[in-house]
Amino acid sequence: MKVKYYGTRGSLPVPGKDTIKYGGNTACVRINNGSTLIIMDAGTGLRKLGNELMETEFAQGKGVAHIFFSHAHWDHISGFPFFAPAYIKGNRFFLYGCHNPDSPLRQILSRQQNWINFPVSLEEMASHIEFIDLQAGQKIKCATINISCFALNHPAGAFSYACSVSGKIVVYASDYEHEAEFDLKLADFAGEADLLIYDAMFTPEEYQFKKGWGHSTYLEGIKIANSAGIKQLHLFHYNPEHSDQHIDEIERLAQKLFPQTFASKEGWEIEI
Ligand SMILES: [Zn+2]
Ligand SMILES: [Zn+2]
Repeated sequence: MKVKYYGTRGSLPVPGKDTIKYGGNTACVRINNGSTLIIMDAGTGLRKLGNELMETEFAQGKGVAHIFFSHAHWDHISGFPFFAPAYIKGNRFFLYGCHNPDSPLRQILSRQQNWINFPVSLEEMASHIEFIDLQAGQKIKCATINISCFALNHPAGAFSYACSVSGKIVVYASDYEHEAEFDLKLADFAGEADLLIYDAMFTPEEYQFKKGWGHSTYLEGIKIANSAGIKQLHLFHYNPEHSDQHIDEIERLAQKLFPQTFASKEGWEIEI
């Protein structure tokens, strides 16, 4: 499996000279095993991923991708209207999100492209777009990749997804606030993953003032990584206020405690 980052930032895009190394775009990660293309979240990083796909069969309307939404906060959906392959007839996209009868994902994305907000409606995008509602704990086979979902502690809820294929496991756990007591449930879900992508928005000092905001710290990620036997931990969903220099420092501190910790960066691709 290959994992590539297109957006690593949380909450708000922050372009500029202080965010060049780790990137300013919001949540978007591509997971690909050569035959199945999975995209985790449709933050602003999705625009660049879409442009890359337009150099492949997606330009001829022959592409298929599966987009998993952790939840529908802005930083996880606002790239979708700028996803060029979705405008090409023939391409097929399967969009997965938490089953929520009060505000289904289809309705949320449709409202995002309401004419007050955006000139082209979701229904006018020419590709085939299909919505699939998931329940917490559900396991599905997504073409060649097995996916299971887990409900995270986050305002209005969020899903973590574990992708497994050929004995390799990648767990995407963005937008999660750890419990006061160590949360064995997420450690259990992430158990022995080859890679855990983890919400490290706040430093432990910042977290003291941001309890209830729905995010975690690198220290809590390391606790899970140690307890669950995670092979590699990637910090993700950076605070928009954190500069490259600040993230360098967080990575350095984290590596002292768990050497296989790396700060994810836009454009970085690794093979698991
Ligand atoms: Zn977020
Ligand atoms: Zn969120």
